[in-house]
Amino acid sequence: MLFNFQLRTPSQGLVDITNEVTEAISESGVNEGICVVFCPHTTAAITINENADPDVKTDFLMGMDKTFPDMVSFRHAEGNSDAHLKSSAIGASETLIVTKGKPLLGTWQGIYFCEFDGPRTRKFYVKVMGG
Ligand code: ZN
Repeated sequence: MLFNFQLRTPSQGLVDITNEVTEAISESGVNEGICVVFCPHTTAAITINENADPDVKTDFLMGMDKTFPDMVSFRHAEGNSDAHLKSSAIGASETLIVTKGKPLLGTWQGIYFCEFDGPRTRKFYVKVMGG
């Protein structure tokens, strides 16, 4: 079963989508299986990381800026090559194990939509498969 979601993002940031993914799994009726969360954008990404201390999100973005700085030598006319690099480094999707009708996550883990070149209206997909 395929679900699609829309969200409005900040200029840069991690948006917690754990509830949306959990609801999609619940609505699918799948108890045991696999769930794929996919981002169809080239300057955004999906990741799993800590959702307890909000400072982790701030530090994550700071670290990404330091690792992938905007460089004057970039040639891409849109001027957002740093965001393209971040998107590929983090990745367009995450695969989750579904058990007992829920995503299998560690105590401190949440699922995030990562925006690197917002604000924009974005989409993401959740595919849930039993088995
Ligand atoms: Zn671009």
